Amino acid sequence: MVPARLVRVAGKRVGVMGGTFDPIHHGHLVAASEVGGLFGLDEVVFVPTGQPWQKSEREVSPPEDRYLMTVIATASNPRFSVSRVDVDRGGPTYTIDTLSDLHRQRPDSELFFITGADALSQIVSWRDNQRLFELAHFIGVTRPGFHLADAHLPEGVVSLVEVPALAISSTDCRDRVGRGMPVWYLVPDGVVQYIEKRGLYREGRRRATSDHGSPNAPEGAAALWTGPSVPGSTPTPDSQEVPR
Ligand code: ATP
Ligand code: MG
Repeated sequence: MVPARLVRVAGKRVGVMGGTFDPIHHGHLVAASEVGGLFGLDEVVFVPTGQPWQKSEREVSPPEDRYLMTVIATASNPRFSVSRVDVDRGGPTYTIDTLSDLHRQRPDSELFFITGADALSQIVSWRDNQRLFELAHFIGVTRPGFHLADAHLPEGVVSLVEVPALAISSTDCRDRVGRGMPVWYLVPDGVVQYIEKRGLYREGRRRATSDHGSPNAPEGAAALWTGPSVPGSTPTPDSQEVPR
């Protein structure tokens, strides 16, 4: 159900796809394209995150690399664009800041925040999330391995959309590069070439054999994100928004 305030059309309908995009892959692009079609969006803005404190146990690639890969991946689609708001703000990215900045830049646009099932439940479970829902409509997209039905979503504030299942994750792409396996057709061609040119994710080759050398780890276990680790701060999960 679309909330009444969103029916009043003011200016452009703009999708916002936030992510670490390390690297951007076809799962992201298909989700954005599908939501764009279903919701009649004029544009989808991809917003790579700033540099987090630390995501899981790994270093995230420099923001400029993630930004450029996102530009390369979206360049051919006239309805896709990339915003630097989170990269330029720096530090960990909170969805409230992303949406506030985009709203300031485009006060007449109606914003639709697009997010995967895994990320959605974290964002909307933040207790002081009312402002988020004033800034944008939230669209949760399906993602293999994550069930929207389990996300415990508050009623009426999000739309759920089934997108063609692409079992691709950035974690798996990084892992593949680290193991010397191809990422062709999982990410756009230009992104494959950019990864190679910049030597991204090769670190994993060393780490895979040292830190994470457990031979009993189940297949695909690396794709499970255990959530951000926030040194020096112990927020109550539902009282503060978790950075993306
Ligand atoms: P990582 O494995 O590093 O967490 P990721 O593949 O989850 O990377 P993110 O940059 O974390 O990519 O994701 C950005 C957004 O895209 C999130 O909302 C996420 O849920 C969504 N998303 C990622 N992969 C897919 C996919 N295959 N299908 C649908 N949505 C996806
Ligand atoms: Mg993720």
